[in-house]
Amino acid sequence: MINFNQMIDNFLKRERKPKGIGKYYPSEIGMCLRKIWYSYKFPQEVEPTMLKIFEMGNMIHDFVVEVLKSEKNPHVELLKSEFPFKVKVDDFVISGRIDDLILLKTNGTKLLVEVKSTGDVGYINEPSPHNVAQLQLYLHFLKIENGILLYVDKRNLQSRVFNIKYDEKIANKTIDRFKKLHKHLVSNTLPDPEGRIFPEMNWMCRFCEYRDKCYKATPANVLP
Ligand code: SF4
Repeated sequence: MINFNQMIDNFLKRERKPKGIGKYYPSEIGMCLRKIWYSYKFPQEVEPTMLKIFEMGNMIHDFVVEVLKSEKNPHVELLKSEFPFKVKVDDFVISGRIDDLILLKTNGTKLLVEVKSTGDVGYINEPSPHNVAQLQLYLHFLKIENGILLYVDKRNLQSRVFNIKYDEKIANKTIDRFKKLHKHLVSNTLPDPEGRIFPEMNWMCRFCEYRDKCYKATPANVLP
């Protein structure tokens, strides 16, 4: 018998270079700053289960590209997909990959598309603030007025679309978060445990591999 789970693990296993201070990622910046800080200072191997989840996300994105470029959807033109994003701010770099840029042929509008795969699209009633922050950053630097957050259910390909209009305030707030993260990393000072402070970020602690470190550094009774 073959162990196909193991074969997938072998296939997905790859060397991950530790992240370097001074290079930051839009997909992370809406997450708890302390958790991001830990991921630079104490890099950890990504669990095989997480690698599978990431791969599933890649497969969903490839599927979305096929749909967007299909001639069966003539009202939409896929202009670009999976294209690099890199900007310099102060003395650091923000680097990422933008999912898709499409043209709505019906009215000539260009839209940036950020695709997110999800376990149950039925629970997505509004776009997640950390996804919005990522898209707003792209809109800001690419000087595009409109974007969409596209959530696709991994189980059945049902989807939900949220239109996102460029908002300079959110984009600047996001840039400020990068500055704050950079400052904490360079000065080697721990950021506040945002996941434990802000109710809307509490869910992040459930998936955090740095919980023990975080609680040791800031016990519950001294939470800011
Ligand atoms: S446990 Fe929560 S607050 Fe602490 S680093 Fe992780 S996500 Fe942030």
